[in-house]
Amino acid sequence: MNRHAAIAPPLPDLFRSAARDLLGPKGWIEDGEILKAAAQPWRGGYSGVTPAVARPASTGEAVALVKLCIEHGVAICPQGGNTGLVDAGTPHGEISVSMTRMQTVRDVDAFNNSMTIEAGATLVQAQETAAGAERFFPLSLGSEGTATLGGLISTNAGGVAVLRYGMMRDLLLGLEVVLPSGEVWSGLSGLRKNNTGYDLKHLFAGAEGTLGLITAATFKLFPKVQTASAWLVCNSAEDVIALLAKVRDHAGDTVTSFEMIPANGVEMVRADMPDIRDPLPHAAPWRVLCEVSLSREEMARDVLETALGEAFEAGLVQDAVIAENLGQAGDFWRIRESIPLSKRAFGTSVNHDVSVPVSRIPAFLEATAVAVAEVYPAAEIVAFGHVGDGNLHYSACAPETGETSILRERADQVTAAVHATTRAFGGSISAEHGVGRLKRDELQEIRSPAATATMKAIKRALDPHNLFNPGRVISVD
Ligand SMILES: Cc1cc2nc3c(=O)[nH]c(=O)nc-3n(C[C@H](O)[C@H](O)[C@H](O)COP(=O)(O)OP(=O)(O)OC[C@H]3O[C@@H](n4cnc5c(N)ncnc54)[C@H](O)[C@@H]3O)c2cc1C
Repeated sequence: MNRHAAIAPPLPDLFRSAARDLLGPKGWIEDGEILKAAAQPWRGGYSGVTPAVARPASTGEAVALVKLCIEHGVAICPQGGNTGLVDAGTPHGEISVSMTRMQTVRDVDAFNNSMTIEAGATLVQAQETAAGAERFFPLSLGSEGTATLGGLISTNAGGVAVLRYGMMRDLLLGLEVVLPSGEVWSGLSGLRKNNTGYDLKHLFAGAEGTLGLITAATFKLFPKVQTASAWLVCNSAEDVIALLAKVRDHAGDTVTSFEMIPANGVEMVRADMPDIRDPLPHAAPWRVLCEVSLSREEMARDVLETALGEAFEAGLVQDAVIAENLGQAGDFWRIRESIPLSKRAFGTSVNHDVSVPVSRIPAFLEATAVAVAEVYPAAEIVAFGHVGDGNLHYSACAPETGETSILRERADQVTAAVHATTRAFGGSISAEHGVGRLKRDELQEIRSPAATATMKAIKRALDPHNLFNPGRVISVD
């Protein structure tokens, strides 16, 4: 897929000069290279176009900018780190409103276990802020050095600790949002209990910038934990799922991460990054990266060792290594997090972000492999990810040979096969990355008419002029 917007529509002169006066040279940018970068997402595959990048430095500037946009009918594409994967934060003719100048930590309340940070801060900054207060902010994912809090809220991001702590929505206590009316909703609050009507923050989590511009958020904090990490070898997907249940039977909610990794994914990483070592070379087809977290490291290690001892006895694990230190645990994670990039080095891939009930994963993998083979028999399947949440990143790959063009030609058929099987297994074709423009039409076809009508009603009520990320998530034309 390679969709290019034409050229950016010109902005009204009065709007341009007013925006430039409002935001100054650091906040209003028309430099060609910067516009190009803003319109090019991390993964490539498509690109957009924008006439300008606006970078408000405060909520006040954001409000004034939105009011100018309303006055002149200028559409807005909010952008954070531009790491999203569904063509939602890439501008297609709208001005790109980058939040990256708004990174202030407004408040940390360790006794209340909460912190309030502006939307342009990265996830790593949020994690470090929590650590500085002897607390833990559990959201973690591969793009955490670049992805911003506003983007992570707007995509309701998941990541590697959802099993224990939930998705971004579950970590939110309050929000500050510039609405499409130009008003500010000041919903920042550290309260856990606050039943005072519709819980508005949940409207904006996962809205992908279609309902307003998030400027700051209050998050839950947790006690600090120490982690024990294991790299495991399993003979089958059935064993992986039984292993998850066994570890949780023993370790309960202290299981923080449970990532399923195929042996061919490890091979792709090693071919791409020769300095990476396979922790346990083995002929079996599956690896698992499992983490248990407790207040003390020896307690976490003890729980993990006992759980794995039982799993060995039950024949669910063929080989295992528990990390001796943080460096070794980091090596395990480096393999896991490198799979997306190494797939690109291997050749081309058609990628999917799906979820099915955890219990159905083995049968799903089998059925999907058959369905994909009917369309493209030579596919190298790489299915990996947050299996503890039932979430798989399912890719059909082809090496950089003549096969590349064949897979590209059949990409839509491959996706149709993967999505049809996902639905047949009671799953979702958008597990954690969101909808954007990429999945909007397909989801509109399969979502219930009542749900689509409700979503359209919300969008029209909040953004009657369709200025915020038009064409993402839901089409109201
Ligand atoms: C290597 C890699 C690994 C990843 N791993 C995971 C993973 O494990 N789990 C997962 O869930 N996702 C994952 N992602 C995708 C994830 O969705 C994004 O990384 C992140 O959530 C988007 O943050 P961002 O700041 O880059 O937002 P952008 O990409 O800039 O924008 C994403 C969306 O949010 C909107 N938006 C951004 N800021 C605001 C704001 N302040 N107000 C309103 N709307 C806004 C945009 O308009 C767009 O719709 C991964 C991505 C990469 C590249």
